[in-house]
Amino acid sequence: MGKPTGFIEYQRETIADRSPTERIKDWNEIHEHFQEEKLKTQGARCMDCGTPYCHTGITLGGMASGCPINNLIPEFNHLVYQGKWKEAYHRLMKTNNFPEFTGRVCPAPCEGSCVLGVIEPPVTIKNIECAIIDRAWDEGWVVPNPPVNRTGKKVAVVGSGPAGLSAADQLNKAGHLVTVYERADRIGGLLMYGIPNMKLDKDVVTRRVKIMEEEGVSFETGVEIGKDLPSKQLLDEFDSVILCCGATKPRDLPIEGRDLKNIHFAMEFLGPNTKEIWDIKEGKSEQFTELAKDKHVIIIGGGDTGTDCVGTSIRHGCKTVTQLEIMPKPPEERAPNNPWPEWPKVYKMDYGQEEAAALYGADPREYLITASKFEGDEDGKVKAVHVHNIEWKEENGRFMPVKVPGSERVLKADLVLLAMGFLGPEATIVEELGLDQDPRSNVKAEYGRFTTSVDKVFAAGDMRRGQSLIVWAINEGRAAARECDRYLMGSTQLP
Ligand SMILES: Cc1cc2nc3c(=O)[nH]c(=O)nc-3n(C[C@H](O)[C@H](O)[C@H](O)COP(=O)(O)OP(=O)(O)OC[C@H]3O[C@@H](n4cnc5c(N)ncnc54)[C@H](O)[C@@H]3O)c2cc1C
Ligand code: SF4
Repeated sequence: MGKPTGFIEYQRETIADRSPTERIKDWNEIHEHFQEEKLKTQGARCMDCGTPYCHTGITLGGMASGCPINNLIPEFNHLVYQGKWKEAYHRLMKTNNFPEFTGRVCPAPCEGSCVLGVIEPPVTIKNIECAIIDRAWDEGWVVPNPPVNRTGKKVAVVGSGPAGLSAADQLNKAGHLVTVYERADRIGGLLMYGIPNMKLDKDVVTRRVKIMEEEGVSFETGVEIGKDLPSKQLLDEFDSVILCCGATKPRDLPIEGRDLKNIHFAMEFLGPNTKEIWDIKEGKSEQFTELAKDKHVIIIGGGDTGTDCVGTSIRHGCKTVTQLEIMPKPPEERAPNNPWPEWPKVYKMDYGQEEAAALYGADPREYLITASKFEGDEDGKVKAVHVHNIEWKEENGRFMPVKVPGSERVLKADLVLLAMGFLGPEATIVEELGLDQDPRSNVKAEYGRFTTSVDKVFAAGDMRRGQSLIVWAINEGRAAARECDRYLMGSTQLP
């Protein structure tokens, strides 16, 4: 274990982010670099519990509780406490293909279920994970490790998000020849064109892709399966196909005025923004569109995608930013019906809200509020959003939003971003291959087996489970690779 008395002696201390007023001036990561001594102290707080819930990865109350990829957390905490960073790196890589992604952007359900969290603030697991892998890259420990033998089997992976990348990485390790098809011009899925650069630097993604290439994985960008290449051709040319196309269909808000100009889905704002930043960095273009500059921005949706829109709008130099959330404000402390080790549904300021508060004096989120109409000007551009407050009332066993009388008001808006979640995968490949879907329109494939209704086709990640988390995508990519290997070889040694 860490230090037997560590959790009594030391307080939880996380690595501070850069100051909000400084970091909004650039697109660099908000995270500061790690300080070794501080992290050893934090590792010392781990109690090495008899039953360490941090790595269980079970679903409780509909949310992940503990690490979904079962990272060997007490073990690497202990190794960091002892200063054995290289050993900690090897322990981390046993369960996680890409700790540099999760260490930066995972919401850390592990910390929500850390046993120390029952009485004290939990161990800073995510910071420790990130520090281990960053150190491994800095020290040159992350090197290509191609498989010794090839099986001669060929696998196509469609989609290069964390699910596709982890599936490809595992299958390549097993000796299969893997080709990853991606319709975008860069590899990474939402790691590249969803999560903004300030949360996850794109160099962190591309350096990993380069290692995978050196290990023998082929990447084909700018190829949309179902458009540039028929899905059925993959079935003819490959021994197996793993679909990891994500859940990219956005939820719309079909109210009056929806067709006005300057109303966009969040991803129409976030994706092109990152592309422009990197096209400029790589000398491919000089164009930078600051869509939110000098505008009153209204973001509809109070979740993580909305937060990314807040941070991006602020960096464009927006006049004001407001985030509307239909759900109530979460409590400051765990509610009685949300006990440990469940994921704590409590109020927190994420990076975007911190930045808005530093700039404009308050958290930009308004709760229990919804939009009823977009109002336009004579040029057909949005100029206001009509909103009202709601209460959640139970009707016939279902909670329904009910308008609070007299709460109507009009908010000034020059740009509206819709960040209300996603409704499952796009239809093209699903229809072309005739894949069965579940009631939520995701591709039907049983968790644990990942086989679809079509022979030799597997599905994993958001395309199978709906919009989720990076860590779940890695879990599914790894597990689908294991099942695919079993299908190809009759047995498997993949974890
Ligand atoms: C804005 C935003 C921020 C997020 N922030 C976080 C976060 O901070 N932490 C976290 O854990 N999770 C976050 N998530 C969720 C997380 O990004 C996803 O759960 C995860 O990326 C899903 O991985 P995936 O591999 O299943 O799919 P994706 O990452 O969506 O990748 C799917 C890929 O498939 C490609 N594709 C689709 N169809 C085709 C086709 N026909 N041919 C070729 N390629 C195709 C797409 O272009 C895409 O690149 C965020 C999501 C969004 C939208
Ligand atoms: S991947 Fe996520 S849940 Fe697992 S240890 Fe890392 S931060 Fe925690």
